[in-house]
Amino acid sequence: MLSYTTIQEAEAALGRPLTAAETLWFNYTATRSDYFLYCHNILFLFLIFSIFPYYYLFLEFFFSNSIKPYKIQPKVKLSFCDTLGCYKYVMRMFFLVVGPLQLVSYPSVKMIGIRTSLPLPSMWEIVAQLGVYFIIEDYTNYWIHRFLHCKWGYEKIHRVHHEYTAPVGFAATYAHWVEILILGIPSFLGPAIVPGHMITFWLWIGLRQIEAIETHSTTFLGLQQNIFHFMVVQITMITIIMLADKARVILLQYSPIAIIFMGLTRDSAIKRRSSSSCGRDRFTIRKKTKFCPT
Ligand SMILES: [Zn+2]
Repeated sequence: MLSYTTIQEAEAALGRPLTAAETLWFNYTATRSDYFLYCHNILFLFLIFSIFPYYYLFLEFFFSNSIKPYKIQPKVKLSFCDTLGCYKYVMRMFFLVVGPLQLVSYPSVKMIGIRTSLPLPSMWEIVAQLGVYFIIEDYTNYWIHRFLHCKWGYEKIHRVHHEYTAPVGFAATYAHWVEILILGIPSFLGPAIVPGHMITFWLWIGLRQIEAIETHSTTFLGLQQNIFHFMVVQITMITIIMLADKARVILLQYSPIAIIFMGLTRDSAIKRRSSSSCGRDRFTIRKKTKFCPT
């Protein structure tokens, strides 16, 4: 909730007129609590989980021949029944784990300093922070995923995620509830290190899920993942150089080593994995494709 009751008060505090976006934000948030604003993520995630994978299904059904060269497993086609079963499980986890986690995790978001106040962040600040969040999440997620592929982690937790061995966007969050909780850590780390505005946080949560769905989708253009990771590294390096607060000092001290280490370890891991499985980036394919009983 904003500390101003009128636009005039807000303008007096900022020492300038509000922009159109800030006026919109004021009108929407002035009487709403920060907790309520944070909980918008539940609606955003529900919509993204439910709608975004249809883009890939649309490609699959209407442009199947055009996308065939770019399919990860060209000979495998999940039935509607398989896809629906996957979505049902994801929704169950959404209502039992993801939603409740959002409801109870607000204190941590408040603690790290996600703000809802004016002024709104500039576009540059939003892009820069999202760049940092993506690289931190990507790197942390990678190592947690590797840990989950150890014998204990795979058998106790991660095997659920690999039940759907044929890529399908809906399966991005098809996982054991423990894995869903664990993988919240990489998503939270970026905002914890470089906290920003609630709008940036909304964008981050949404874009992160869209990226996860894309990663698990049936099609991808061969270099897409590598280009993505290359761009993330470049954007983040530029971001780190340009950021003008204490985050720059912290990140400048540690990031060059981390980025170089990440590049070296990630590349070697990709080579090892690609020679041993037919999986795509991050997600190896180990078990039989899951089909509906006939
Ligand atoms: Zn895995």
